[in-house]
Amino acid sequence: GIRQRRTPSKPPRGKGSSHGTTTSWRLRSFQPSVQRILTGRVGACLVSQEGIILGIGYNGFPRGCSDDKLPWAKKSARGDPLETKYPYVVHAEVNAILNTNHASAAGQKLYVTMFPCNECAKIIIQSGVSEVLYFVEKRIDNSDHVYVASHNLLSMAGVKVRKHQPQMAQIPINFQDPRV
Ligand SMILES: [Zn+2]
Repeated sequence: GIRQRRTPSKPPRGKGSSHGTTTSWRLRSFQPSVQRILTGRVGACLVSQEGIILGIGYNGFPRGCSDDKLPWAKKSARGDPLETKYPYVVHAEVNAILNTNHASAAGQKLYVTMFPCNECAKIIIQSGVSEVLYFVEKRIDNSDHVYVASHNLLSMAGVKVRKHQPQMAQIPINFQDPRV
C-alpha cells in the first residue's frame, strides 16, 4: 500500500482489515503522539518518511546529571550563568536524534516544538535529517543571532524547513467502548 502514501483515508476498521498497515494508517497512528509532543513541553520527534516514529526527545539534563543538583532557573539573581539551566540542558532535538532506537536520522523528518537553535541546527545537518517541521518560531521578529545563524545553516545545507500545520486542534480521548 505504499502508493497510498498521502491519502488521508480513514484507518481500517474491523477485524477484517486489521492488517492494513498502509502508510496512511501509520501516518494517522503516529499523529497523536507528535501532537502531544508539540503541544506539551519543548519536544522533538524524529519521524521516518513512512511516518514511523524513530526517536522522541525532550529538553532535559544529561543522563545521570541530577535534577536536584542542577538549576532549572532561566535567570540568575547574581547574573551567574551557571545558576541557570542553559549551560546544562540537552535540547529536545539532540535527544530525539540520539534516542533513535536503530534507524539512522539520515533522510528523516524532525518535528520540533520550537524552531531549533544554531547548535541543534548543526547536529540536525550533520546527522542528515532532511526536513525540519517546527510548531512555533518563538523569536521570528527578533534578530537573535542564534536563530539567524540557525536559519542560515539549515538553508545552506539544503535542509527543508517548514511550519507544521496541525491537522487537529485537539485530540479527544474517548474512554467508552465505541461498540456500545
Ligand atoms: Zn537547540
